[in-house]
Amino acid sequence: LFSAVEMAPRDPILGLNEQFNADPNPKKVNLGVGVYFDDNGKLPLLQCVQAAEKALMDKPSARGYLPIDGIAAYDSAVKALVFGADSAVVQEGRVATVQAIGGTGGLKIGADFLKKLNPQARVLISDPSWENHRALFTNAGFEVGSYRYYDAATRSVNFDGMLADLRAAAPGTIVVLHACCHNPTGYDLTPAQWDQVIAAVQERQLVPFLDMAYQGFGNGIQEDGAVIGKFVATGMNLFVSTSFSKSFSLYGERVGALSVVARDKEEAARVLSQLKIVVRTNYSNPPTHGGAVVAKVLNDPELRAQWEQELGEMRVRIKAMRSKLVDGLKAAGVQQDMSFITDQIGMFSYSGLSKAQMDRLKSEFGVYGTDTGRLCVAALNSKNIDYVCASIAQVM
Ligand code: PMP
Repeated sequence: LFSAVEMAPRDPILGLNEQFNADPNPKKVNLGVGVYFDDNGKLPLLQCVQAAEKALMDKPSARGYLPIDGIAAYDSAVKALVFGADSAVVQEGRVATVQAIGGTGGLKIGADFLKKLNPQARVLISDPSWENHRALFTNAGFEVGSYRYYDAATRSVNFDGMLADLRAAAPGTIVVLHACCHNPTGYDLTPAQWDQVIAAVQERQLVPFLDMAYQGFGNGIQEDGAVIGKFVATGMNLFVSTSFSKSFSLYGERVGALSVVARDKEEAARVLSQLKIVVRTNYSNPPTHGGAVVAKVLNDPELRAQWEQELGEMRVRIKAMRSKLVDGLKAAGVQQDMSFITDQIGMFSYSGLSKAQMDRLKSEFGVYGTDTGRLCVAALNSKNIDYVCASIAQVM
């Protein structure tokens, strides 16, 4: 049965981790994986999460199956966070939300549902994009193309290229858009550019699928979510995947969601019934713990305030590291203007370093980033920043 099974290529990021772990260099720094570490280089366990877990433990409950669409209080908290608790779209019952296994799970539920709805549709992702976008939509049966996004020459969004590609797409094409903190480049659209993208999506009758894996990591919870309101205002159908992996530092709990905006309450109910079939036939229903923790934090005013503060601290620390990187590179002798690093937003920086430079960084200095020059600035800290700057200066 398995004699013809080929060895699949290693996941590039996980492969990088294995290399990092095996590296004996005591100064090694891992800027490859997309994970936020605190200033001590530790994965944080947020205070709000600990408090919610303690409250849950104080009143232990049996672990029955959850409803197929997850914990009701979780789904309503996601709706409030993504669309605004008082938004008309939520009040009118036009949003169908299901708890999902991470942001990846939200994307996959949406992809499977879309495949049933419109099997001939193409999918467009940004060039470049989070690598799993292509694989996930391809595995769901779609042909996946891309729209222009990053322009290496100008270190910015190739906005004209992006618009032209969207305008050339066939009606019904599914367009995957990064709501904020674009992974891997760190370049987001301005509000005015979003308006133009939304107009193009509407004109061409494309299907917008917003991936929001970093809400709160860019400029703030409301600020990062503002683009969702812009889409909703057009009355278009809309898909939004949510991840709490980063914003709650709950990577391993796999907490996310998919929300679909329908025309009215009745349509949302029909959509929800179909999303539940996708869930039911894949893994039946979601797990309890992570969803219960996030629901508790989001729905408890005190814990919620604590979360917003902790999330704000992560956001501010990342920004501080960006500035330190720019200053540190200059101090280490880099002639080139590196201030573009502070124009970027979120966890990642497209550094502009070539594959050869990234290879040297890895082999000579033990500084790990992806071959594309992507560095996770959320893994920089006051102890490793000088070494990273000195190492980058050497390879430049
Ligand atoms: N979308 C993007 C753009 C991401 O960067 C990530 C996480 N790296 C995800 C989705 C998936 O999130 P999760 O880990 O919650 O599945």
